[in-house]
Amino acid sequence: MNHDFAELRDEGHGVPPRALVLSLLALAIPVLGATIAPEWLSGDRGIVLWLTALIPPFLLTYYRGWRGASLGLAFGMAVLVLAHLGIVASGAAAPSYAVLLWVTGTYIAVCVGAGVLAELLRRERAVAEELALTDALTGLPNRRHATIFLDTAFAAAIRGQPTCVVLFDLDRFKGVNDRHGHRAGDEVLRRFGKILATGTRRMNLSARWGGEEFISILSQADPEGAAVFATRIRERLREEEFEWGRITVSAGIASYSPTMGSPEVLVATADQALYAAKEAGRDRYRIAGAEKPPAGTRSDSGFRPGPEAGEVGETPGEADRRSGRTAGEGDFKALPRGIERILVVDDDEPVRRGVTAFLKKLGYEVLNAPDGRRALEAERGSGKTDLLVVDLIMPEMMGFTLGERFEEEFGPQRILYISGHVQGEVDWKWAPGSAVDFIAKPMSAAALAEKVRVLLDRTP
Ligand code: GH3
Ligand code: MG
Ligand code: MG
Repeated sequence: MNHDFAELRDEGHGVPPRALVLSLLALAIPVLGATIAPEWLSGDRGIVLWLTALIPPFLLTYYRGWRGASLGLAFGMAVLVLAHLGIVASGAAAPSYAVLLWVTGTYIAVCVGAGVLAELLRRERAVAEELALTDALTGLPNRRHATIFLDTAFAAAIRGQPTCVVLFDLDRFKGVNDRHGHRAGDEVLRRFGKILATGTRRMNLSARWGGEEFISILSQADPEGAAVFATRIRERLREEEFEWGRITVSAGIASYSPTMGSPEVLVATADQALYAAKEAGRDRYRIAGAEKPPAGTRSDSGFRPGPEAGEVGETPGEADRRSGRTAGEGDFKALPRGIERILVVDDDEPVRRGVTAFLKKLGYEVLNAPDGRRALEAERGSGKTDLLVVDLIMPEMMGFTLGERFEEEFGPQRILYISGHVQGEVDWKWAPGSAVDFIAKPMSAAALAEKVRVLLDRTP
């Protein structure tokens, strides 16, 4: 989710002024040489001076990877050409073309070599970061670690341990980046990370969930206890003084309930509460379900997880291909009547593409979006969707929050939530949507087709 930022930080914003000055000085040496002693520079001994032009590509590659190498190459070549044009134009000396060829060849080879090496190292580091459990910027556990911890905490919750999840999201953080720069933004993330790290008990876990969102998983905590924790963390951030001022944070709290069935439902519920806190004006916390309508008024769907074909994240078509069968018309009870429109929202690209292609094959009109914001834009642009198929855990806006916003803006909705990590029975009465169902990953093609058809036949 944060790839953009990891890349920006490592390659885009990281060239310190010192390195730039050094690069310019290194390029100035052959230029000065061409002006002061053109005959010397254009002869064999000129190679010595031209070697300094190799300094910028190395420096830029170190800070900006492959792009730095290309930039160094471009500047070096420009200087080489301009210096020689100057020598020729001034008529001071005739350049040695053998030397020129030698310098150019070496220069290109070195830049390409350094660039390729930098790219390989960058990719290896990206893989290593994926596998790591710690967030590099804040030093907090990362989302992967939080997910593993949450699975265990959820299992304990099923056995009676009161468990809460708190989602934090910094208020108007984009403005900090825009007005004071990315470094200032990163400093806020680092300091908030420190506040969370020191404010969290060892039996609990606080992690960077992604971007400027953080998660705390609290065992032996009821919503009131979690609120005390959230208040303490919020107060500490409020007391932090940055060079440019102060910042606040909003929080959403959800507590485990036996009908949740999946840790993802718990987190998506906290996200709804977080959204409510933002809507109420930010700089506050909200507890999920605190002022919700009574159970059963919005949804009557139940979901029981069972063994289903395929692997995690596998798309329906793949499951069928593996089992050597193709989905035929006879496989599904009913085919679509008229053209019904489905909007698929999932940040996981293979799943989004697979589900979209599969539903298209069944004859539906299918649109898709990688996140909640773009899903809302698509709906505003193209009009009424008959069914939403939404991943529960997505960056920026999670499934329940998106469902809620769709209902607020476009009226009653049919919604099929995609969830992974199912541990118990899901019978989530408060899931937004007036006709609601769940499907667990990995999902089979037949189960998806069936649930879609059944939902479309219900009135929203
Ligand atoms: P809201 O109060 O509604 O949460 O507003 P916001 O501006 O905080 O929310 P929005 O989601 O629009 O902006 C989040 C911003 O966080 C977008 C992105 O620029 C910034 N961001 C995400 N990850 C990083 C990071 O690692 N470093 C920095 N400096 N900024 C980041
Ligand atoms: Mg924010
Ligand atoms: Mg955010």
